[in-house]
Amino acid sequence: MKINVEPIADQELKPLYQDASQLGFGRIFTDRMFTMRYTDGRWTDAKIEKYKNFSLDPSACVFHYSQEIFEGMKAYAAEDNRLLLFRPEQNVRRMNRSAERLVMPAIPEETMLQAIEELVLTEKRWIPKAPGTSLYIRPTMIAAEPFLGVHPSAEYIFFIILSPVGAYYKGGFQPVPLYVEDTYVRAAVGGVGDIKTGGNYAASLLAGYQAQKKGFSQVLWLDARERKYIEEVGAMNMFFVFGNKLVTPALTGSILPGITRASVLELAAHLGLTTEERAITIDEVIEGIQTGEITEAFGSGTAAVISPVGSLFFQGKDYVINHNRVGSATQKLYDTLVDIQYGKAEDPFGWVK
Ligand code: PMP
Repeated sequence: MKINVEPIADQELKPLYQDASQLGFGRIFTDRMFTMRYTDGRWTDAKIEKYKNFSLDPSACVFHYSQEIFEGMKAYAAEDNRLLLFRPEQNVRRMNRSAERLVMPAIPEETMLQAIEELVLTEKRWIPKAPGTSLYIRPTMIAAEPFLGVHPSAEYIFFIILSPVGAYYKGGFQPVPLYVEDTYVRAAVGGVGDIKTGGNYAASLLAGYQAQKKGFSQVLWLDARERKYIEEVGAMNMFFVFGNKLVTPALTGSILPGITRASVLELAAHLGLTTEERAITIDEVIEGIQTGEITEAFGSGTAAVISPVGSLFFQGKDYVINHNRVGSATQKLYDTLVDIQYGKAEDPFGWVK
């Protein structure tokens, strides 16, 4: 596919961030974005253009019925200046699965990969090099047809924006306290919890906000039907070291199939750990913490890679895991995964592109 690159005059380029070690998350965007339009049944007008506002009709479908999907991934600068993407084809596939679920048009895999690669290369001056920093990539598709009425849009905009982001663990790799949410739910089986659509995140805000007000860092979600089974943690997948196994909830249809989750499972097996995907009840987790059978717990996702969990607050009581310290499996998985992502460790899986 031919991607037109619109020129930007030097004096119109944004000033670069001053200190990459001070970068936060998702507030600074690069000079350019990729855009492509879907009309009359096909994708057209693929271009890399100046980062700017969209002009959309107030009746555009996305504003009213949330026909919107997105992805989240990162580009990393290796010490030898190579630019690395981590399993980008997995994000592309997940984006198309999300599209299918919301009756949105698929994007040919090679087209989406090419758009991501060309945009990142065009914007390479923005990729931070300080330890732990990266360039966050946000492919997004919105329904743009102007109409009020619940049916799939006939027009879409696909765009990709880039944001240089700081190290997630500025204050060190610290376990966080979780609030086990037994009132609100994130997603139900048969719904859209297993795809990346904005509505899932809107639905999660109140529980997350209330948990944070009480001093917890994230919500541990339970299933919608019985509030009995562990689902996810905030916007991450959940893992426990339970007995001598690394255990994570099986993908039941309401859990997002995380790319970090899949990578942790493969890497753990490669490192000699026994892994298991199964239904995990909150009751067995509480008991496992009390008996000491659960020795470690962590979340996994693109933003943090691995986020150690220090305690669970459930029905008025606090349950502390591993004396609130980072366990050895958590640390090993984190270090190995991060080293693969930054091209510092051997990549036996061919994950880095
Ligand atoms: N669950 C949810 C709800 C998420 O938003 C994310 C982040 N994409 C994840 C899990 C982790 O997915 P990944 O490892 O692909 O980033």
